[in-house]
Amino acid sequence: MASRRDFLTAFRKPLKNISEESALVVRPPYCYSESLFQSECPACESKACVASCDEKIILIRADGTPMLNFTKSGCTFCEECAKACQMNEMDVLSLDYEHTKEKVNAIFRISTEACVAHHGVVCFSCKEPCIDNAILFNGMFNPVIDMDKCTGCGFCLGRCPTKAINYFATQIVRNPKDEE
Ligand code: SF4
Ligand code: SF4
Ligand code: SF4
Repeated sequence: MASRRDFLTAFRKPLKNISEESALVVRPPYCYSESLFQSECPACESKACVASCDEKIILIRADGTPMLNFTKSGCTFCEECAKACQMNEMDVLSLDYEHTKEKVNAIFRISTEACVAHHGVVCFSCKEPCIDNAILFNGMFNPVIDMDKCTGCGFCLGRCPTKAINYFATQIVRNPKDEE
């Protein structure tokens, strides 16, 4: 019987052209790789990650894989989706995956055109929910997101009255040390 290590090693070999052929998707934290979502989640009957999320930000896409939607809330890194997925005895989400336990695979940006604080209006709506203090103001104006601090939690997105915050998915990158 294949060991857990054998199983994971198999997925360290990227599926051919998977990143080029598929649009990137913002996934739950505690994940290992995009390949694993695509190979395992469509056959998962429970979709237990969805019900486990108190913030209700996990949706199932048409292809049967989970994605995060930050329209109404954000990720608290509560670990519940990873625990729920593990109850399926699958390794798609796991607290063992160090490279994604504190970061969602998304880059957030503030549009300087749409943000009123870039046009002389006092507004701290995005700053308040950012517990990582990743939104930096120059005095009272011109907020920018510090990429080193931003976890991609998404809580700022829905708070902006002018929808000036946007995001895009990035590849799920493993730390080279994880490959050893
Ligand atoms: S519970 Fe795990 S295997 Fe099932 S859909 Fe969610 S992430 Fe995929
Ligand atoms: S860590 Fe918690 S809040 Fe974040 S997606 Fe998973 S269940 Fe939802
Ligand atoms: S800027 Fe702050 S609130 Fe917005 S996604 Fe990053 S860490 Fe979360």
